[in-house]
Amino acid sequence: MSKATLIDTTYCIGCRSCQSTCKQWNDLPAEQTVLLGGDKGLQNPNTLTSSTFAVVTFDEVEDASAPGGLRYVSTKRQCMHCEEPACAAACPVTALHKTESGAVAYDASKCIGCRYCMWACPFGVPTAEWDSLAPKIQKCDMCVGRQAAVAPVERNGVALSAEERTRLAAAYATPACVKQCPAGALKYGDRDELLKEAHARIAASPSKYVDHVYGEHEVGGTNMLYLSPVPFEKLGFPMDLGTDPLPRRSAVALGAVPPAVIGVGAALGGVYALSKRKQEVKAKEGKAHEHHPEFAPVKQPFWTTANKLLAAVMAWGAISFVARFALGLGGSTNLSDTYAWGLWIVFDLVWIAVAAGAFATAGLIYVLQRKDLYSIGRSAVLMGLLSYSFVTVTLLADLGLPWHFWRLGTEAPHHSAMFEVSWCVGLYVTVLAFEFMPVPFERWGMKKAMDAWKRWSPWYVVGAVTLFVYLMSRNVLIAAGAAAVFSVLAYAFRTRPGEKPVPILLAIAAVTLSTMHQSSLGSLFLLMPDKLDHAWWSPVMPVYFFLSSIAAGLGLMVLVELWIAKAFKRQVRVAQLAALGKVAFWALAVYEAFRLGDLAVRGQLGHALTGPKAGLFLAEVVLGGLLPLVLLGAAKLRERPAVLGLASALATGGIVLNRMSVVVFAMNLKGAMPQDSAQPYLPSAVEWGVSLGLIAATIFLFGLAVRHMPVLPKEEPAQAANEPNAEQASA
Ligand code: SF4
Ligand code: SF4
Repeated sequence: MSKATLIDTTYCIGCRSCQSTCKQWNDLPAEQTVLLGGDKGLQNPNTLTSSTFAVVTFDEVEDASAPGGLRYVSTKRQCMHCEEPACAAACPVTALHKTESGAVAYDASKCIGCRYCMWACPFGVPTAEWDSLAPKIQKCDMCVGRQAAVAPVERNGVALSAEERTRLAAAYATPACVKQCPAGALKYGDRDELLKEAHARIAASPSKYVDHVYGEHEVGGTNMLYLSPVPFEKLGFPMDLGTDPLPRRSAVALGAVPPAVIGVGAALGGVYALSKRKQEVKAKEGKAHEHHPEFAPVKQPFWTTANKLLAAVMAWGAISFVARFALGLGGSTNLSDTYAWGLWIVFDLVWIAVAAGAFATAGLIYVLQRKDLYSIGRSAVLMGLLSYSFVTVTLLADLGLPWHFWRLGTEAPHHSAMFEVSWCVGLYVTVLAFEFMPVPFERWGMKKAMDAWKRWSPWYVVGAVTLFVYLMSRNVLIAAGAAAVFSVLAYAFRTRPGEKPVPILLAIAAVTLSTMHQSSLGSLFLLMPDKLDHAWWSPVMPVYFFLSSIAAGLGLMVLVELWIAKAFKRQVRVAQLAALGKVAFWALAVYEAFRLGDLAVRGQLGHALTGPKAGLFLAEVVLGGLLPLVLLGAAKLRERPAVLGLASALATGGIVLNRMSVVVFAMNLKGAMPQDSAQPYLPSAVEWGVSLGLIAATIFLFGLAVRHMPVLPKEEPAQAANEPNAEQASA
């Protein structure tokens, strides 16, 4: 039976013995505080911090039944020890976990400092050690260490009686705060018994209490139960959390990942087989159009003014990166217990979305056999590889303890979106590297390496996908299913003698893994319905994120190709870009229809259009959705590079705005418990430096690579490059 603590605020005298005992037991340092005054009276400090796991709040509440019409209520606040804790569901390394005794325990040695638990907790409990060079989180653990402690069997050399030993063992197992409370405001015991007692107290003195035991049902129930003489909202308790445990919202989406990997992989294999068959029939009929453009390095001087500027921004980025580690996360950023995530997470979410062009083009070119787009495949993969690699660099900068990263390989969390995204992105970077390998092999005539790549890259995919499915399911049978399906694909699509090798397994893995992590980035926020405005939060956010990434990725690819044409003084490949624009149109149309339909079904459309964030919503949907749809929907407009560029910029910008809204603009962050002292956030120079430095590095390295490797197609005569062919016309 799980244990709980009943906190009867009518007994609390505000002496703060619990608060100071908690410090003593947990060996927490003192911290500089100020006398808050006002209606907070003696409250000190203002909120929970990494050095204060429990705080007694003071609230002066209007109450006609109280002497003078005002009631002074002091309330001990700390971790609520949720029955199904969102923090533990968030943690990618099981540093937080629910124990049988009811406590949500914390193992600091496992923490990687990702701070997802801080955003997931609906009560604002975990706080970070911002002053540390290696900031972990901290929180109350209901003194689980005391439960494990062995009570003494003698005192001053005299053996204790059995009754004394039992009494001492019980005292040891009691949380320090409960043991120290001189007023009897805290009572520790079986949760069910305490609930009965709480209701009995209300029934015996209905004028003394409001008829509500806080924690009985909130977020599925908590192991801290409260009684109050005034409505809980007047004490600052969150009242909009509902009664469903938050982890159930993301468990369904994340539980679907392993079977989805197998299903998506098999489906893509089927689509490829059909597309290939169609191509073979066309070839026999002499109707197929072969597209085998030759690729060559671009011959242009490297140290242009633009590249010198990029190098300067990269230098700022490098200095910022060093400063991040020299000064620590707290010393170099403006992150806080309110904004535990900031610019770098926005940057990662945006960059992963817009880097989706790599998987979208791989799917179009190889799975759907859109050979007319073959000429942009290499630039898409290179841009994806650079972007994703730098996303992982930003993630490392953002972690409090990046050197604990290996914990992701040894821990087995249940349904942590952060765990899924970390593994999936990591494996996808390796798939992108495999996709790009033929380019340097071809450039430097590395025939043996190329032969090894042809032979082994499909089997690398089988291994990577099987590992991923095993890590997500911890089920050998499901992993064996993934291995079997991908092995069949690798065998069925092997390169026969005389055939040109097609990296179809890599393309299938790219689309499959991207589908998973793009959607799981949406799952990250399923735990936060209490914080994210419901014009953005939705139980189908994973689908939002996946669909929007295709539109954003293709939009960015159009922009990249237009930039390549301008920067390297090449022809604009109008036909190919118009074809991409058409696919982007359909991707955007499906996404916007899904988004608006979901809002309508959930009854949130009115709120989105008229609520406090209506301007933001309209900018996203009208400027970033409807307008580019109008521009991309007309074939004639799509063929005009300026219009195509504008439409792509608007579509990509709309999705960038969506991601920024999800993390910052539409997030209602209240700060650490008692959630009444939210701190503002503006990124620091170091945060900007790392972010802009990595964007500059992406462009700089892309420019360097295309000058030394065959990434871009050889220039064709203007007429031929821009002539639409039969496939494009019918596509
Ligand atoms: S209150 Fe927050 S930190 Fe405590 S168990 Fe619940 S979710 Fe975790
Ligand atoms: S690893 Fe991340 S989610 Fe887990 S306890 Fe540490 S900061 Fe919280």
